[in-house]
Amino acid sequence: TAPSRLLAVHDIEVIYDGAILGVAGVSLHVDQGGIVALLGANGAGKSTTLKAISGLVQADRAQISRGHIQFLGEDTAGIAPNVLARRGIVHVLEGRHVFAHLTVEENLRSGGFLRRPSRQTLEQELERIYAWFPRLKVKRRTAAGLTSGGEQQMLAIGRALMTQPTLVLLDEPSMGLAPIIVEEIFDIVAELNHKEGMSFLVAEQNINVALRHAHYAYILENGHVVSEGAAQDLAAREDLQHFYLGGQ
Ligand code: ATP
Repeated sequence: TAPSRLLAVHDIEVIYDGAILGVAGVSLHVDQGGIVALLGANGAGKSTTLKAISGLVQADRAQISRGHIQFLGEDTAGIAPNVLARRGIVHVLEGRHVFAHLTVEENLRSGGFLRRPSRQTLEQELERIYAWFPRLKVKRRTAAGLTSGGEQQMLAIGRALMTQPTLVLLDEPSMGLAPIIVEEIFDIVAELNHKEGMSFLVAEQNINVALRHAHYAYILENGHVVSEGAAQDLAAREDLQHFYLGGQ
């Protein structure tokens, strides 16, 4: 049986401040259980696309000026980000944004409140996250701002997982991290996908790492999708090699 369509983005255009074009016609989809990469250089439109999907474009005074987005078959236009989050879309922003003065555990708990869980459910969720990210359990009582960059990225992801999402939007998880830590994070993403069926849309400039872990990928340039395909096919394409080097 064919996998079901989780997310479908149909030819969206996003404008900032009524004038600046953020993306200029992006179509993509994520099927249930997929890891999809959204690749491209700085300014190509990756973050804008993710914000359009999570509804956060509104917070940037931007708007979707053309096209539409469907999540689980429903049009998401005008739905507030917190409502979309409750329906299963969670967005891990670029740059991590953890609460530096709160402990690791307090950060994780803050992610759980969206669903107004019982105390017991919250404790179970915490243990589940600690099982996925043992480093976070070790640092549970440490202020988030005092943990390493890799731990903060894991915390940002772990906090997002507290909402029990169906689709996780990850914006540049590799940013500023050592290759071995990037690998560790992508391995956990692949395991979450494999064992829990969680779907991911990952924006990355680090094309090589992303293509090794994704199933399918889209390449963005100047707000347009210029190429797409199965990750292993894209990785093998000679004509895209220049792009990998140039796009780092
Ligand atoms: P990055 O890796 O730097 O986030 P990106 O591929 O995610 O790059 P976007 O951040 O989506 O690219 O940027 C796409 C275009 O939208 C760029 O031309 C950028 O200058 C513009 N843009 C992004 N955010 C804003 C904003 N808040 N206000 C105005 N223009 C913006």
